[in-house]
Amino acid sequence: MVQAMIPGYPRLGARRELKKALEQFWSGRLTETELLEQASALRKQRWQLQHQAGLTHIPSNDFSLYDHVLDTIALVGAVPRRYQWNGGLVDLHTYFAMARGMEKDQANAVPAMEMTKWFDTNYHYIVPEFEPGQAFHLASRKPVDEFLEAKALGIQSCPVLLGPLSFLLLGKTTQSGMSQLALLDALLPVYEEILQALAQAGAEWVQIDEPCLVLDLDEATRAAYQSAYTRLAAQRAAQAPSLHILLATYFGDLRENLPLALQLPIDALHLDLVRAPQQLEQALEQAPSSLSLSLGLVDGRNIWLTDFERVLTVASQAVQALGTERVLLGASCSLLHVPIDVMQETHLDEEMRSWLAFARQKVEEISLLTRALNEGRETIEAALQANRQALESKRSSARIHTVEVARNVQAITEQMAQRSQPYHMRKGRQQAGLKLPLLPTTTLGSYPQTADVRAARAAYKSHKLDQNSYEAFLKQGIEEVIRFQEEAGLDMLVHGEVERGDMVEYFGEYLTGMLLTRHGWVQSYGSRAVRPPIIYGDVARPGQITVEWSRFAQSLTARPIRGMLTGPVTIMQWSFVRDDQPRSETCKQIALAIREEVLDLEAAGIRAIQIDEPALREGFPLRHADWQEHLSWAIFCFRLAANGVRDETQIHTHLCYSKFDDIVPEIASMDADVVLIEASRSQFDLLEALRAYHYPNGIGLGIYDVHSPHVPTTQDFDEKLRLVLQILPSEQLWVNPDCGLKTRKWEEVKPALKHMVSATQQVRSSL
Ligand code: GLN
Ligand code: ZN
Repeated sequence: MVQAMIPGYPRLGARRELKKALEQFWSGRLTETELLEQASALRKQRWQLQHQAGLTHIPSNDFSLYDHVLDTIALVGAVPRRYQWNGGLVDLHTYFAMARGMEKDQANAVPAMEMTKWFDTNYHYIVPEFEPGQAFHLASRKPVDEFLEAKALGIQSCPVLLGPLSFLLLGKTTQSGMSQLALLDALLPVYEEILQALAQAGAEWVQIDEPCLVLDLDEATRAAYQSAYTRLAAQRAAQAPSLHILLATYFGDLRENLPLALQLPIDALHLDLVRAPQQLEQALEQAPSSLSLSLGLVDGRNIWLTDFERVLTVASQAVQALGTERVLLGASCSLLHVPIDVMQETHLDEEMRSWLAFARQKVEEISLLTRALNEGRETIEAALQANRQALESKRSSARIHTVEVARNVQAITEQMAQRSQPYHMRKGRQQAGLKLPLLPTTTLGSYPQTADVRAARAAYKSHKLDQNSYEAFLKQGIEEVIRFQEEAGLDMLVHGEVERGDMVEYFGEYLTGMLLTRHGWVQSYGSRAVRPPIIYGDVARPGQITVEWSRFAQSLTARPIRGMLTGPVTIMQWSFVRDDQPRSETCKQIALAIREEVLDLEAAGIRAIQIDEPALREGFPLRHADWQEHLSWAIFCFRLAANGVRDETQIHTHLCYSKFDDIVPEIASMDADVVLIEASRSQFDLLEALRAYHYPNGIGLGIYDVHSPHVPTTQDFDEKLRLVLQILPSEQLWVNPDCGLKTRKWEEVKPALKHMVSATQQVRSSL
């Protein structure tokens, strides 16, 4: 029999129950026991739903109170010293201290562990830290406990573990030059112990995730894969002969690592056949007869209805080659990256809903498709027909295709993405109008969004506050932000983004071809979730979006105001993207819409315009070999959005949340007049890289770390600025925070910005 599987399921709950429980627990309104009970109830719901839908390969331990990498840190006892863990099992207090930091006493806070993006998703994991001589030991029973919990409900689950190699590779070492791979020998005994414990508890299959197999790996790492899995197999043969291993890869193509993966001593290999369908052929040819293949054919990264015919065609090939006993059918990756249930989106019409599949619907699709393989297509005839109809209505719908948008995209030229003069010619013209001092100071866009701002927005959206009152409220907010910036002495002002909740959702509300969900939350980190818009059709801008707010802000002050937009790459990256045309096409459409807004801002007298691209980097392909193709359109789309303006108009962009020191040439090719970047953490690698490249354009130094409540003193800023000036010339530099101030408090922001400005003034006068 073909088995129906998913590599994982969303954790927060259809109503974000886990988010609420966690936040209540952290604020002391829920006891530990109550939190654990609620988590257990959620797990029960998930398992029963999957079981009833007909999955036969149901995951456990894919649930997490915060993050599955953090769970693995706890599992192997890799708690950094600063959390003062006393050994034994990792308790909840230590677990959350690693995730969120802890107060040691009044004066001393221990910061949280670093967080970074999980491959090319918008999910953030906690980065494991390894010190020289790092020891490991089994310090959590979570995989066993959750396996037994499911078993008690009558469900034979498949525990999921993050594999030892991916765990090490995703971590960082506390000493440079130290190799993560050198820790493998110390780590493997813990995996042996946990596998044995799972076998003793009655587990028959364990899913070990090794997503790093889709990355560029060096020879040493490939050899480590071989030796680690050989060692685990030997141990299993001796101590847990009935335990089977499903090795899961996802998010891409294994390419040169495929032969390696196919001959590891494992029982099944999961392949992402949505991102990389081409790898199936080789896998079918080369799979040894002892290996089953798990076909990830239902998209775990997007929300569209699955094409049943396509999946059945591919899966039948596999069944023909391997036989039903050696095939599993499932989602391409964990369903963590999609929302839970389309049926909650009652504001959408039936046609639109029929095109969509969230986690719950995907589980149903997988069960149906598996049934068709096992019992014959005729057993799901009605579903096949409904599927055909929905796909057909989507293909031909007038809601999706717009002649005008297609024509505009056709008419895009290389020249449209090109400023008329090079930067050194534009610079003087811009300065003639802007009249900025040396080292101009500015902020990134948003100012603190206090509870009353959020309350007013919610009241407006639920029609409890009328449009006029809401607009009056926003204008008052803008005025306050302007007055504060004048008082603080900032040189270039922003309107504060008081009208925006989320920087992508806001544009999604105005652009055609995009829709917003009500409950389509996707976990971003811990208790935090985002609601990505769905790009379902051609994107266009029916009217001005931000112009009125910028114009109003400029009317209040003599200092220059900077318009504030989200860039096309980021809007696309943080949305679910249509699957019926290449991403590059979608991105071009968005770029044209943003370009119109840029030109309208310019026409309204706004002299500087910022186009944020915080997600630029996260969209880069996982393999270097694919970069060129991606960049050829991604950077182009930014330029298309930005570069229609006159020489006198100053374009800013802001990049954040990632490492950028290895993409300086790409940043340079964006040709923004000013790039606002992070420089607050002590590492100046990016600045060094910009210098080495002779990066010519303006650079905004984010020397105020907005991710910390800490208020730096004038002295702190002064020292940092002088350090930076040893690397880059003052004529090129701006001074600013490293990101938007939305989540900070006014009590922190006010003194911090005043200190930033006075330090800049000191440094300026000493130059
Ligand atoms: N302009 C946005 C803000 O200030 C930028 C946010 C971001 O880069 N994430 O909020
Ligand atoms: Zn930012």
